[in-house]
Amino acid sequence: MIYLDYCATTPIDKEVLDTYVKVSTNFFANTSSLHKLGQESNYMYNVALNEIKEILGVNKHNIVFTSNATEANNNAIFGICNKYESGKIITTKMEHPSVYESIKSLENKFEVVYLDILKNGQIDLEQLKKEMSKDTILVSIMWVNNILGTVQNIKDIINILKNYPKAKLHVDAVQGLCKIVPDFNFNDIDLFTFSSHKFYGPKGVGGLIYKEGLDIKRILFGSSAQFNLKPGTFDLSLIVATTKALKIYFPKTNEHREYVKKIFEYLYDKIKDNTNIIINTPLDNISYYALNFSVNVNGETLIHHLEKDEIYISTGSACSSKLKKPEKTVFAMTNDLERSLKSVRVSFSHLTTFSEIDKLVESLNKIR
Ligand code: PLP
Repeated sequence: MIYLDYCATTPIDKEVLDTYVKVSTNFFANTSSLHKLGQESNYMYNVALNEIKEILGVNKHNIVFTSNATEANNNAIFGICNKYESGKIITTKMEHPSVYESIKSLENKFEVVYLDILKNGQIDLEQLKKEMSKDTILVSIMWVNNILGTVQNIKDIINILKNYPKAKLHVDAVQGLCKIVPDFNFNDIDLFTFSSHKFYGPKGVGGLIYKEGLDIKRILFGSSAQFNLKPGTFDLSLIVATTKALKIYFPKTNEHREYVKKIFEYLYDKIKDNTNIIINTPLDNISYYALNFSVNVNGETLIHHLEKDEIYISTGSACSSKLKKPEKTVFAMTNDLERSLKSVRVSFSHLTTFSEIDKLVESLNKIR
């Protein structure tokens, strides 16, 4: 079996799984129970919170754990926008559906601008500058794109927003965390989100990290747990396991990226002259964790062709890959319908081997 769909999800790390099992066995008490067992769980929760903050270098942010990044992105967007009756939201044409569709649902109430994607996979910072106004309440721009692996210039975006204090910056950091070392400071971002299963953590847990004191309108009502934003009992084991995954993988970001870059280049060199293939991922400002290309067959047909050789890749975002729609990020960048219908994404890990890539290429070469 050759798994090349690591941007969709990663296998849980053995040590992380052990942590999960240990915590769920030994610290099962509810963190809000007043008795000793509950207080022990609560202590562990606070230790985990502080450890994550320390790893990410944030000192004045709160962390709310959610079921996944989809929920965290929804909380960030509605949490800010529901405070207003009107205003302007700026996002991009390539956001993950959990951002894109959330913002789309607000079009009847707010002015929404979707920034273009240039041929190099970047947003146009001049367009962002032009669109910013005193009415802007939210700017939501992803750090690393899940389809192409392109990395946006968050540092410059932070600087542009400095002149607009009303505008809050939300960054979907899901495909960036543990894949690329940030050249910006997380402390400068109002709200950002992550998902543990993208960095060998458990599924069923993600997070919203936001500036302390930022007024976020709650979606859910109940207890006062998790800063009033996510009431209800949470699974402490998922949180401690996430912390474990970050402890293991965050410090290895550069080492793993250097290896993955070699894997990316190896595949790139092997397919670049194949006349059946057009490569969509640009070569600059990328994470190297994804290589997107279009083949002269439908993306789905290709997936099933490779499946016969036990090779697993994706047509794009796992959440929308069942829909036979052109891939919106590829379309936004290329303006080529055919190319975006036939695009597929191969995504890598430090676990990927060169011989796996050889087998993928062998299978791709069988397509006529
Ligand atoms: N944002 C990005 C960029 C993603 O790639 C994904 C998942 O693929 C998500 C958000 C949603 O993450 P989750 O599966 O945890 O809801």
